[in-house]
Amino acid sequence: MPAPAPQKVERKYVSTVNACKLCTPLGACLAFRGIEGAMPLLHGSQGCSTYMRRYIISHFNEPIDIASSSLGEKNAIYGGAINLKKGITNVIRKYRPQLLGIATTCLTETIGDNVPMILKEYLKEAGGPGDRETGGPGDRKDFREQGGLPLIISVSTPSYVGTHMDGFHLAVKAAVESLAEGGEKTGRVNLLPGFVSPADLRYLKEIMEGFGLEYTLLPDISESLDAPILEEYHKIPDGGTPLSEIRAMGRAQATIEFGRTLNYSYAAGNPYTAADYLQARFDVDKYSLGLPIGINETDRFFAVLEHLSGHPAPDSHRLERGRLIDAYVDSHKYLFGLRGIVYGEEDLVIGLASFLSETGIVPVLCASGGKSGRFEECIRAVCAAHAGNPAESLPVREGMDFYQIAEEAESLKPDLLIGNSKGYPLARKLNIPLIRVGFPIHDRIGGQRILHLGYRGAQRLLDQIVNTVIEKKQNDSPVGYAYM
Ligand code: SF4
Repeated sequence: MPAPAPQKVERKYVSTVNACKLCTPLGACLAFRGIEGAMPLLHGSQGCSTYMRRYIISHFNEPIDIASSSLGEKNAIYGGAINLKKGITNVIRKYRPQLLGIATTCLTETIGDNVPMILKEYLKEAGGPGDRETGGPGDRKDFREQGGLPLIISVSTPSYVGTHMDGFHLAVKAAVESLAEGGEKTGRVNLLPGFVSPADLRYLKEIMEGFGLEYTLLPDISESLDAPILEEYHKIPDGGTPLSEIRAMGRAQATIEFGRTLNYSYAAGNPYTAADYLQARFDVDKYSLGLPIGINETDRFFAVLEHLSGHPAPDSHRLERGRLIDAYVDSHKYLFGLRGIVYGEEDLVIGLASFLSETGIVPVLCASGGKSGRFEECIRAVCAAHAGNPAESLPVREGMDFYQIAEEAESLKPDLLIGNSKGYPLARKLNIPLIRVGFPIHDRIGGQRILHLGYRGAQRLLDQIVNTVIEKKQNDSPVGYAYM
């Protein structure tokens, strides 16, 4: 018999206490970092970009520049147009980007800066937007000498509406809307993976290549945020999706987009994703899938790849899947009936809940700071597939902060927490292990190398969880034992 679901703890306060989400423009900056030659610029105060750099560096252990229009008190009254124009000019001169991705912040959204209009003025003053193919040249002498103006795109990312995932997807969509072109169809496949780790992206590339598919991965932070050691600092790191490939996305045969909650983006107030845009504008077939975490969600992804490629999955993947099922059987005695709290980005939590249910762990609370409005129905959809799982009574909470998660956790008696490093204080208080996944991982090395996706990612997660459970048992045992 599954344990009864706990009652939702009513909030007795109005503020957020340690949000279970990150700031919206941070996600946009990460997505821009996954485009070749792109430079992110925040329209806001210095503090915002400092905070974001700090978070990103601590997770990826890579240097990252995020420019800022450096607004001060005066701008809060008179507007930030002058600073933004100066900032754009400085960034173009210093970094020579191919693409400049501008994301707004809480301050600039609150004072009501009209960034698209400021950009229009800027381009007019600088001599026009330049040639779309080459990113330039404009007429202004300074820029002509430097090879012209880059493509400039902007996204509206107030952080009091939405999460870093909303910012991430909005930036991807803005890049596709600005660049993708139609024309004669190619056999390529667009893959929009969402915000996953560099290790996940490298594995996705291996999978696509294994199926013999030509593909465009957007964005691609696998090199730009996890690069080999360099002797010299590169102002804009190598790697990222080439602009020419983004242009060709309108001619692809299909787009695969990960993210079950995507179509109802709360932050955007706009139901269209990048894949929707490509379908509506260029008639590119769209396949919407959940993040392929665990066997069921990965099977769905592989079924689409088999359909698009016309080939069965390569033997290497079928063998990995078979070994994973064998490992599920081996580990069942350790995991069955354990109670796990899963938190973080909505789509990551949905994938993890699906995976945990397969292993016999009961996700007793699925929590996210996101507010897509689809979180609960998606969790129930992925967990209902597994016999014996109490999908109907499963507590699913959106718009949560860590204070609320901690309040609910007290009565839930969880055995495990699964989520990012921000849950560590709760794990410590409850004296239970934290399985670190997603972003940010601040208190361990190798956040960028965590593999979550596919059969291989599930195998890695499974081994980590089982061994953590065994280690906890050993540590808690008064006598100690070496044979499990
Ligand atoms: S939440 Fe708002 S104020 Fe804070 S760092 Fe993000 S954009 Fe800046």
